[in-house]
Amino acid sequence: MKCDFEGLYERISQGGIEPEDALFLANNPPYLWCIADELRAEEKGDIVSFVVNRNINFTNICVGDCKFCAFRAGKGQGYMLSMDAILERVEEAVNNDATEICIQSGLHPDLELSDYCGIVESIKSHFDVHIHAFSPMEIYHVAMNSKLTEEEVLKELKRVGLGSIPGTAAEILDDSIRSVICPRKINTAKWSEIIMTAHRLGIPSTATIMYGHIESLGDRIRHIFKIREIQQETGGFTEFVPLKFMRKNNELGKMVDRSASFRDSAIVHALARVILHPYCTNIQASWVKLGLEEVQKMLFFGVNDLGGTLMEENISRLSGSQAGEYMSPDDLGRLIKDAGRAPRRRSTLYELL
Ligand code: SF4
Repeated sequence: MKCDFEGLYERISQGGIEPEDALFLANNPPYLWCIADELRAEEKGDIVSFVVNRNINFTNICVGDCKFCAFRAGKGQGYMLSMDAILERVEEAVNNDATEICIQSGLHPDLELSDYCGIVESIKSHFDVHIHAFSPMEIYHVAMNSKLTEEEVLKELKRVGLGSIPGTAAEILDDSIRSVICPRKINTAKWSEIIMTAHRLGIPSTATIMYGHIESLGDRIRHIFKIREIQQETGGFTEFVPLKFMRKNNELGKMVDRSASFRDSAIVHALARVILHPYCTNIQASWVKLGLEEVQKMLFFGVNDLGGTLMEENISRLSGSQAGEYMSPDDLGRLIKDAGRAPRRRSTLYELL
């Protein structure tokens, strides 16, 4: 065992990591990276997966005021896609072999459950595709607008064909930080409650963290332990996705004097692997946030998945992402092979295709 620093590897591989172990490892990155890479190799071998998908952001009109957002419409710049425009985008994606449509949007003040169900139903009646849509914040917003509980909203969306939900809007699960960076967003308890309700209803979700702004290392570690706790109870997370904060064109960017470094990113991804082991074994890196060079390197820091091909990416691009809006399956495959790993397409729920 090359990574067994004083029995630490043994303990972590049996799922017995404690917050102080994580802190020790984060302060001693070579140990952390060695353990994360070994766990990744044991759990996933050489396989690096990705999904062929498309993002659709059907409106940028939003009542929110997140300080990190460059997507919300300014005055006179709002758009709302028609159902025909949404279906055209889905058709283009399906013709390009997409198996997943990912839908996230602004919190439009006038939309209710029937509008959201209409989108899902309409797509499902035309195409055989997995719909991965609506963050816990959007579910909360729909529930409020429709005077329903989140459980009722989730049940109805599932009935009309929703397959899974993105675990975005998590940002950092710490209310003192949330009150600064996204004061109108749901708090930690509500985010967890909606996610756990979804899992209980048989709607899986991803889990995310947004790192590299005003949060501390301790906040990152507590966040990942919170995800671990939920996963131990529900088993409903398909993967964990660290998302680097993008600084351009948003208020929070002005409050932060530097972007997360490569080292920061390597530590966060590796921490996710060791803290979530063995409960959540898919750790994803985002090529949109990190760029192609860094995302490829993350494969050596505990990562086994590169997310989706996307086809259309607006949210990060507006905050300064340079990585582009689309990676073809061939391009992603090449990037993985060049790192000495084996690319495999997967479904949203991680069946290898
Ligand atoms: S992040 Fe989402 S909820 Fe927050 S302001 Fe932007 S569009 Fe609205």
